[in-house]
Amino acid sequence: MHAAYNLEGIFTIDDLKNLLDILHFPVSTSTLYNTTQLLVQANLLIRHPFSSTIAYFERIGDNKPRNYQICNNCHLITRIRSRELAEALDLYEPRKFAITHRIVYINGLCAKCQRQMERALKVYDMLQEK
Ligand SMILES: [Zn+2]
Repeated sequence: MHAAYNLEGIFTIDDLKNLLDILHFPVSTSTLYNTTQLLVQANLLIRHPFSSTIAYFERIGDNKPRNYQICNNCHLITRIRSRELAEALDLYEPRKFAITHRIVYINGLCAKCQRQMERALKVYDMLQEK
């Protein structure tokens, strides 16, 4: 439980299992799932909705901003470091609702996928012209 809570950044069950194996502290995958589930229920970890097949976790409770952009095509996840976004979130004061943590997910296309899409459209246009 200590290892799961002290991992920095986003991690998966496999990351956690690899870390514990390196530390010579082998734990079964089902135990790790149960432990992370308990930490999520205790509001110490968040399970990100990045994927329906892989569980991504991150420690919360330190009041750090957690803002992510996710590519719809390749599922690349990058942290957004924007002062404007952080200030806008700080200004938001909901009524009759106590904020425990703030996470923003913005979906779109990463630069690499945008270039791939533009190339594919050019090829499509060339084929249409023939
Ligand atoms: Zn992408």
